Amino acid sequence: MKTDFLPGLMMDYPLTIDRILEHANKLYSDKKIFTKLADGSFHQYTYADLYKRSKRLGNVLQKLGIESGDRVATFSWNNYQHLELYFGIPGCAAICHTLNIRLSSDQLIYIINHAEDKVIFVDASLLALIEPIADKLRTVRNFILFNAPPGLSTKLPNVLHYEDLLSNVTENFEWKCNNESMAMGLCYTSGTTGNPKGVLYSHRSMFLHTYGINLTNCLGLFSTDVVMPVVPQFHAQAWGLPYACTMLGTDIVMPAMHLAPASLADTIEKMEVTVAAGVPTIWNGLYQELKSMPRNLSKLKSLVVGGSAMPRALIEAFEKDLKVTVLHAWGMTEMSPVGTVSRLQSKHDSLSDSGKWEIKATQGLQVPGVELRIMDDAGVEMPWDGNSVGELQVRGAWVAKEYYRQDPDTFRDSFTVDGWFRTGDVASISPDGYMKITDRTKDLIKSGGEWISSVELENALMGHPKVREAAVIAIPDEKWLERPLAIVISVVDVSLIQSELEELLAKKFAKIWLPEKYAFVKEIPKTSVGKIDKKVLRQRYKDGTLV
Ligand code: ADP
Repeated sequence: MKTDFLPGLMMDYPLTIDRILEHANKLYSDKKIFTKLADGSFHQYTYADLYKRSKRLGNVLQKLGIESGDRVATFSWNNYQHLELYFGIPGCAAICHTLNIRLSSDQLIYIINHAEDKVIFVDASLLALIEPIADKLRTVRNFILFNAPPGLSTKLPNVLHYEDLLSNVTENFEWKCNNESMAMGLCYTSGTTGNPKGVLYSHRSMFLHTYGINLTNCLGLFSTDVVMPVVPQFHAQAWGLPYACTMLGTDIVMPAMHLAPASLADTIEKMEVTVAAGVPTIWNGLYQELKSMPRNLSKLKSLVVGGSAMPRALIEAFEKDLKVTVLHAWGMTEMSPVGTVSRLQSKHDSLSDSGKWEIKATQGLQVPGVELRIMDDAGVEMPWDGNSVGELQVRGAWVAKEYYRQDPDTFRDSFTVDGWFRTGDVASISPDGYMKITDRTKDLIKSGGEWISSVELENALMGHPKVREAAVIAIPDEKWLERPLAIVISVVDVSLIQSELEELLAKKFAKIWLPEKYAFVKEIPKTSVGKIDKKVLRQRYKDGTLV
């Protein structure tokens, strides 16, 4: 057949997830995967064990009648069983649907029924969250429990036990994922912007994302690393780290439910973790913990942080006080999720530390395979000049082109006609490509016709030594329509007065940006993935009075 181009003469090697595990089993079979167990001790096994058990899991799923394209859900912390599900489910051509354990019952019911999950694998420590909704789940045939103590009784119907099932099958299993275009994973956005929407990853997109984040100039992982994903496996595939670590054969440390700052600090020290990844709230807590009780963190070389903006002050604190490099990344569930990483270039060598932290606090450079652009309200592309601020749009090899089982017309607003995804973030891009998020569209504050960036105010507030956490939201105002409200948690046992913060902000921002109102609080609400929940805050302060 004649075509209008000369086809390449290369093999069609499918970029499927099983290849990653095969590779690890050949090259890194003795590297270790550790999981912190409920009693605080560590379970440990090797990639060879992961490989064998993932193959057994393939057989189990087949015996349960799971077919190509079926959705099989997980409800678990980060642990070795969850890792097996990450490989075993896609390996048998089904779709690994990671359920967010922190969602409300209603959201879980909606998501499970929407995805039509056939089976749910449940960490028994989370039974109390799933039992009350079991009778509302229309398509679930079996609940498969792991980490269940002997004699556990449960109200769940059709329960099977993971270890029993694995021990009743062999390790002889042929991977069934033979086409890279097949779907392999499903993750619903955590819903800070409305009803959760499903993002359906393909083997190819996840494989390429794994390559992307494994570039040395991206997360910079090596086989010699000991990596601890604190970011949950139920959230945006733990930022792709389970696949990235397996591809490189790093040791992995899974913290499971031990996410309190003291526990994380102990784990990092004891397991000699070299790279850990999580949202800013986690690292803020860790820093406070280390200040009050120092640990030996000499092996920890970098903290990967994303999910919301990492305050510059916290980057400085880690790099200056603790000599730990911070790698600030930005992404979205719709982007598998990594889109940008902030790394310095050789031209920055001559900058002061402060200049370097300014750059690291930006969201950074697009990862090859992803492209960024910013658009004005009229849909015209804006220049990369570091000043122009517009809607951030992306496209690339691991970016969603539509939502799962949603009428594309309903979500027409999320995707442009010329093939870009509208992120809902507002950003500028410097001439040399550093992207800086000013806000999410819905979090921007419009005061007397002027846009005020809540992120920039929060960053500045977080730079005050007496501030532990800060959030800025819009509150209604008769004259200006909206004004910023600063909500602040001070460092423990310290009295912090408004004038100290006013003074700090007045040095940095135009008068119109300065909040007149401050709320000093003990707690700031967080979303299911640990981000500041501005939806709740806006509701709490909706008539502008301080509660
Ligand atoms: P949800 O939309 O439910 O919060 P995601 O985890 O997909 O779920 O969130 C993606 C959003 O998180 C981005 O659009 C952006 O607003 C925010 N985000 C992620 N990383 C960063 C970062 N490094 N800096 C600022 N915002 C970030």
